[in-house]
Amino acid sequence: MNRSLLLAALPLAVIHPAAAAPREAPSKERMRATVEKLVSFGTRHSLSSATDPVRGIGAARNWTAGQFAALSRECGGCITTERLSRRFIGPRAPDGVVIEDVLGIQPGSEPGRYVIVGAHIDSRVTDVMNVTSDAPGANDDASGVALVLEAARILSKHKFKATIVYAVFSGEEQGLWGATLLADTAKARGWQIDAMLNNDIVGNSVGQGGVVDANRVRVFSEGIRSSESLAEDMERRAIGGEDDGPSRALAKAIDGIADALPGKFDVMLDRRPDRFGRGGDHEPFLKLGYPAVRFSVGAENWDRQHQDVRTENGRVFADTIDGMDFDYLAKVTAINVATIARLAAAPAAPASASIAGALTRDTTVKWAAVPGAQSYRVRWRANDRQAWSDERVVTGATTTLLKNVPVDDHFVGVSAVGADGAESLVTFAGRDRG
Ligand SMILES: [Zn+2]
Repeated sequence: MNRSLLLAALPLAVIHPAAAAPREAPSKERMRATVEKLVSFGTRHSLSSATDPVRGIGAARNWTAGQFAALSRECGGCITTERLSRRFIGPRAPDGVVIEDVLGIQPGSEPGRYVIVGAHIDSRVTDVMNVTSDAPGANDDASGVALVLEAARILSKHKFKATIVYAVFSGEEQGLWGATLLADTAKARGWQIDAMLNNDIVGNSVGQGGVVDANRVRVFSEGIRSSESLAEDMERRAIGGEDDGPSRALAKAIDGIADALPGKFDVMLDRRPDRFGRGGDHEPFLKLGYPAVRFSVGAENWDRQHQDVRTENGRVFADTIDGMDFDYLAKVTAINVATIARLAAAPAAPASASIAGALTRDTTVKWAAVPGAQSYRVRWRANDRQAWSDERVVTGATTTLLKNVPVDDHFVGVSAVGADGAESLVTFAGRDRG
C-alpha cells in the first residue's frame, strides 16, 4: 500500500500520537467566567427548579450542556452531549427528585476504554434541605465544573485512544446520586474505566484561619480496592500490596505527572479514600471497582463551604468568588489535563501481572499482553519503600527475569507504553493464578 493510501485509511489519532501532550495552559479568565456564570443561577440545589430559565439547577445544567455543544462546534463535532437522568429518593429528598448528569463525551480511537473527569454542579447552604436561599457554591463545586469545562476545551483539540467523559454531576450533596448514576451507567454499558478523576473544592489557596497553602493539592486514594472479593482480600493478606491498588496506582501516577509539570506545584498523595470520615463522587466508582481519586485543595476553609451567606461579628461565611484563587485552580486543572492526556493516549494497563522466584535470588515477572503496547515498563522496589525505585523497559515479550531481585523482599508492577511514550497505570504483580 502506498503511503497516501495508508494515511487515508488510518484514523487521525494514529497519525498524530504526539497529541498526548497538550501544551496549552488552562485559562484562569475562562474559569473565572464559568464560576461567575454558575453563581449567577442563585442556587443550584438539587431540589431547586429544574425548569426555571434563569434560577436553579435546571438553568445551570442547560447552560453547561450549551458549553459542551459550543466546544463541539469548534472541534468539528468531537464532543457528544448526553444527559443521564434517574429518580432518586432518600432522607435528603423524601419526595424523590430527578437527578440529571450532563456529559460531554469525546470518543477515542479504541472503543470501550474511558477516562472520566467529573465535578458536581449542585450547591447548598447550611440547611441541606434549603432550596430557596442563595447558594453560590463558587468553590464547592463550581471550581470543579470550571475545571471540567476547561479540560474539555483544551483536550478537544487533540485525539486520543480512550474516550474522555467530561462529567457534571447533580445530587452530590443529597447522596452522591449523580455519580452513582454515571457509575451504574458505565457498568451497564460495559465501559472499561482506566481512571476517574473527581474534582471537588479545587479553587482556594487560603484555608481556615487564614493559613495559606498555595502550592499543593491533595489527591485522595484508596490503597486496597473496596470492591475486592473475600478471595481477593485473602490473597492480598498473603502477598501484600496494600499500597498498590488501582486507585493508589492512579494517585502515584498523578504525583509523578505533577512533578514533571513546570511550576513546582505539588501533589500530596493522601493515603485514604477521602477526607477523614467523609466522601465524594469518586466513591460510587470505587464501589464498582474502577480506579478513582479525589482532588481537593491543600487547606479547606469551612467558613466558605455549605454556609448561609452572612457576616457575623466581622467574620464572613459564604462560598463566594472572593474566597477563590484562580491561579491555584489553573494549576490543579493543568495536572488534570496532563493526567487525562497521558492515560487516554496510553494503551490500557496490563489486565494481570505475576511474579515467581521461590528459593532463588531472581524474580520472574510475567504479564498479560496489551493491544497497542509498544513496550512494557517493569517497576520494582524493596518492600520497605512506597515509591518504585527501579525499572526496566521490555520490548517484544511479556516476561522478564530480574536477576538478584529476591521475590520475598520486592514489590513489582508492570505498565504498558504506547508508541509515543504514553504510559498506562501500573498493574501490581501478584501470584500467577493460572
Ligand atoms: Zn462538594
